[in-house]
Amino acid sequence: MDHDVPVLIVGGSLVGLSTAVFLGHHGVPSLVVERHRGTAIHPRAALVNQRAVEAYRVVGIEEEVEAAAAREFVQNGAIVSVESLGGTELDWYFRNINEGVEDVSPSARLFVTQIGLEPVLLEAANRLGARIEHASEAVSVEQGDESVTVVVRPRDGGPERTVRAGYVIAADGARSAIRERLGIPILGHGSFSDSITIYFRADVRRLMGDRNLSVIYVFGPRLQGFFRFSIDLQAGFLVVNSTSDETGTRSVRIGEDMSPETCIRYVREALGDPEIPVEIEDVQRWSASAEYAERLREGRVFIAGDAAHVMPPTGGFGGNSGIEDGYNLAWKLAYVLDGRAGEELLATYEAERQPVGAFTTEQAYSRYVLRLDPTLGTDDLMPLVDEAAVEIGYRYRSSAVPTASEDDATWEDPRSPSGRPGFRAPHLPVTVGGVERSTIDLFGRRFAVLAGSAGESWRDAAQAAGSALGVPVDTYRVGDDVIDPSGRVEAAYGIGRDGAVLVRPDGFVAWRATAPHPAQRTELVGALAAALARPTPSVA
Ligand SMILES: Cc1cc2nc3c(=O)[nH]c(=O)nc-3n(C[C@H](O)[C@H](O)[C@H](O)COP(=O)(O)OP(=O)(O)OC[C@H]3O[C@@H](n4cnc5c(N)ncnc54)[C@H](O)[C@@H]3O)c2cc1C
Repeated sequence: MDHDVPVLIVGGSLVGLSTAVFLGHHGVPSLVVERHRGTAIHPRAALVNQRAVEAYRVVGIEEEVEAAAAREFVQNGAIVSVESLGGTELDWYFRNINEGVEDVSPSARLFVTQIGLEPVLLEAANRLGARIEHASEAVSVEQGDESVTVVVRPRDGGPERTVRAGYVIAADGARSAIRERLGIPILGHGSFSDSITIYFRADVRRLMGDRNLSVIYVFGPRLQGFFRFSIDLQAGFLVVNSTSDETGTRSVRIGEDMSPETCIRYVREALGDPEIPVEIEDVQRWSASAEYAERLREGRVFIAGDAAHVMPPTGGFGGNSGIEDGYNLAWKLAYVLDGRAGEELLATYEAERQPVGAFTTEQAYSRYVLRLDPTLGTDDLMPLVDEAAVEIGYRYRSSAVPTASEDDATWEDPRSPSGRPGFRAPHLPVTVGGVERSTIDLFGRRFAVLAGSAGESWRDAAQAAGSALGVPVDTYRVGDDVIDPSGRVEAAYGIGRDGAVLVRPDGFVAWRATAPHPAQRTELVGALAAALARPTPSVA
C-alpha cells in the first residue's frame, strides 16, 4: 500500500492517544494530529473502569496509570448523593467504587482525570512509535481507493501539508466534523440540558470531614448536578445540570448565565455554606445529550470515542467506551495492514462496537433521568443494568465471532462469566511459569487457544490452524502451562476438561468447543479463518 503513514488519527485527546498506544503495541506507527497545544487542561473523565485499565495493563502502562491516579485522588472513594456537601446525605450508590468487583478483573477501577492520564498516554504513544503533532488541525479528509488524503494545517501559521494515510481514525470529539462530512446520522436523545462545569478553588476540608467521596451528586432544593474535588480538598469542579427558582420553576438552560456571581452562588449552595470563600477559575458550557452514530465507518475512515457516541457523565462510561473503541479497532487494523487478516475484518468494528456504544449511551441516559431529571420521562427508559455488566459484560456479535448467535444474550454479569463467544475472556488468578498472573495476561497480542486439562490434542489443532493461516497462535492447557489454584478456570470458560476457547488479541472469546471435537483441526482452522475474515484453507 502506498502511503505516508499507515494510520492517521484526528484528535489527540483521551481516545486518540489511547488508540495510538494500542496501535503502537501491535507495531503500527500512527500520526496523531491535535488542534490543542498539549494534553487536557480540564479534568473531565475521571472514572477509568476495569476494562479500560485492563487494556492499559496489556500494553504495559497499568502501573504508570495507577501512579498518575494516586497523585490525583485517594482511590476507592464512594459515590453518594447529598442535598449539599455539608448537608443531608441522601443515598450511597457505591461505598467504595471497587467494592464487589474485586474478583472481576486483575485491574481496579481508578480515579484519574484526563489532566493526569493524557500525559501518560502521550509518553507511551511516543515510546511505541506514534508521532503526535500538537497545534495541528486536519482541515480536509478525502477518500481514495488505496488511501485517505488528509490536509493538515499548523495552527500557528505556516504551510498546509498533505498526508496520505492507509486509514483514518476520527477521534475528533462530540462535534466531529469528519462524522458530519461523512453524513453519518446521529440517533438517540438530543440535548436535554445546557449544563455548565464550574472550576473553582475553595477549602472544603471541613465540609468533607473524614469521608472519601469520589463523586458527589447534589440534589438540592434549588440545584442539581455533581462535584469532584482535588486530593488536597482545596479545589474542584461543580457540574450544574438544572436549577429551580423560588417558585419551583425548573431550568435546564444553565449556560445562559455563567457570570462569576451566579457561579459563586451555585458553588456555595451546593457546598451548603453561604459564606465560604470561593474563587472561580473557569466555567465551561456543554450540552448534555445521549447520542450515538448510526455507522462507525465510511470506507477507510473510522469514527471512535465521543465522535461515535456522546453520553451524560452519569455512570462515567463516556471516555471508557471510547478507549474500548480504540482497543477493538487497533488489532484489526494491525492484522489487516500486514495481510494476516482480510480487509472484511474491518467491517466488524462497526458490527461490534456500534451496538455496544448505543447500549452504553442508553445506560448513561437512564442513570441521568433516574438520578438527575425524572421529568424527562421514565416510560421508555432502558432498564438499568449493573455497572460491571455495562463496563465489561457487553457482547460482540459479528462475522468474526462465528458462534456468538447461539443464544441471544447481549450482556452478562462479569461476576459470573460464561466464556461464551463474543464475551470478554474471564479473569481468574493463575500461575504461569511460576509467576502469579491473571488469565487476562495470556491474551493481548496474538490469538490464543486455552484448552481444558484433558485437552492436549487442542495444542496440535492450534498449531495446525496457525500454520494453515500463517498466524501464530499461543496455546495454553489448564494444569500444564497454566496452573489454576482456584480450580475454576475450566468452568468459567465453559470448556470442561476436554474443550477449548479461541481468544482474540483483544481478549474476547472468538469461538469455543465445550467438548472434544471429532474434527478438531478443521473446526479450529474454520474458526480462526472466520475470526480473521479469511477464506478457510483446507487442512490435512
Ligand atoms: C464533566 C464531565 C465528566 C466526565 N466524566 C467521565 C468519567 O468519569 N468517565 C468517563 O469515561 N467519561 C467521562 N466524561 C466523558 C469524557 O470526558 C469524554 O467521553 C472523552 O473526553 C472523549 O474523548 P475523545 O478523545 O473521544 O474526545 P475529546 O476529548 O472531545 O477530544 C477530541 C479532540 O479532537 C481534537 N480535534 C477535533 N477536531 C480536530 C481536527 N480537525 N484536527 C485536529 N484535532 C481535532 C480536539 O481538539 C480534541 O482534543 C466526562 C465528561 C464531562 C464533560
